[in-house]
Amino acid sequence: MPGFTPGRRWQPAYYPFHSEPAFDRFIEFIERSIKGPLFGCRMCGNCLLQETAFICPMECPKGLRNGPCGGSTPEHCYVDPDRPCIWYKIYERAEKMGRTDRLREVLPPLDWEKVGTDSWMDVARHWVKVGGLKGMVDALKLPKPERDEAWEKFFYEVRQPEWWGGDDKPHPAPAHEPVSTLEAKLTAGNFVITAEVSPPLAGATDEIVKKLNLLRDHIDAVNFTDNPSATPRMSSLVCSAVAAMNGVEPVMQIAARERTRMGLQSSVLGAVALGIRNVLCLTGDHPRLGPSPHGRMDIWDIDSIQMLWILRRMRDEGHFLDGRDLKAAPPLFLGAAGSPFSSNARFQALREEKKVNAGAQFFQTNLIYDVDGFAEWLGGLDQLGVLARVHVLAGLMPMRSFKAAQMIAQVPGVKVPKALLDRMESATDPKEEGVQITLELIDKLKRLPGVHGLHIMAVGWESIVPRLIKESSIR
Ligand code: SF4
Repeated sequence: MPGFTPGRRWQPAYYPFHSEPAFDRFIEFIERSIKGPLFGCRMCGNCLLQETAFICPMECPKGLRNGPCGGSTPEHCYVDPDRPCIWYKIYERAEKMGRTDRLREVLPPLDWEKVGTDSWMDVARHWVKVGGLKGMVDALKLPKPERDEAWEKFFYEVRQPEWWGGDDKPHPAPAHEPVSTLEAKLTAGNFVITAEVSPPLAGATDEIVKKLNLLRDHIDAVNFTDNPSATPRMSSLVCSAVAAMNGVEPVMQIAARERTRMGLQSSVLGAVALGIRNVLCLTGDHPRLGPSPHGRMDIWDIDSIQMLWILRRMRDEGHFLDGRDLKAAPPLFLGAAGSPFSSNARFQALREEKKVNAGAQFFQTNLIYDVDGFAEWLGGLDQLGVLARVHVLAGLMPMRSFKAAQMIAQVPGVKVPKALLDRMESATDPKEEGVQITLELIDKLKRLPGVHGLHIMAVGWESIVPRLIKESSIR
């Protein structure tokens, strides 16, 4: 059959001088001309339009293939305010078409060899493999439900490469002893406190040790961010190792942004060797939002859901992504970010369910100032049966000034009610007002069913954490 050139796909699609058979170029041209205007197709060569309400998700600046990031809003993309969030559009259309179930499928990372090439020939190849014309005629003779099932199965096999094996099913960790103190405490039903610390802007650890000593008697684990706001700092891996060596349990945050699928697996194995067990998988802020000029912005090899999927399989099935056996499965307690105020609560509940199905065992949420809105998000999770399968740690950041409150209110995915902004503006001592607001929030949050702890992000104001914990009587 023309176009089935052996080895064609072994040439990088972006390599400028590779020559493709004329037939392949012709198919690519036709596919691009039709799917571009119809679906916004970007010719990723790994078509998943069936799962995404027939809108191509590759317009997303982060290349996300499993749902929106935490900055998604109904109005616009948080990376590029001049365009809408494509994932918000996908969720909206999926809801109208009654296809939200399809958004649960954990979809594979790109096969980069195919990027820029057609996907129709993949369909044709698979069609030949499953019986060609005869197979199609046989399928058409089936009663409607079976015919629909055969059709779904056909496209499922086309879009899920053998090395992946994603699905839309929950995969709880098999029965096991907790791998970390954090997991043990959450499993035992304790109300836990984690605190976030930004890694230093230096190659010295004295600042980390100072903060660890300040926090160690008050918290259950310490999070280290991974180049937050796309701004380089000491690596989260090293900070987490320093915490483990100093007797404070770390939660290593790991951003997909600057990792390939290979880098993820090797980094996490290294982390386990250094005593790190809790890993929080994030997609990460876009480099465009950081200070580094001219950084590469088009890698985005994996997203947070794919990370969870890969790490969970390493732990539970003892395989690398490529199928090789690990000599010892890494003991991991896997977490993800919860985004109660991104896009809308219904869409987020679906997205969080996918994270839990992929492997998330705990959520640390974005900042909460609107407890009612947060309760709505929890309700959405509960309706989907997710709340019973994940530990939720509610995110808090004490506001230090009215200016800080205004800045926080601008962050996509964060909602600060006007009443709180007014309180900060009219306060004679805004710093103290920020503390009082946080204490009130803690008082409400700790009573919400489904909340298993707090995650305090004091960002440079770590000294306030002991006071917050003491005065809120959660210890
Ligand atoms: S808001 Fe996030 S998910 Fe939506 S298009 Fe922008 S980067 Fe992608």
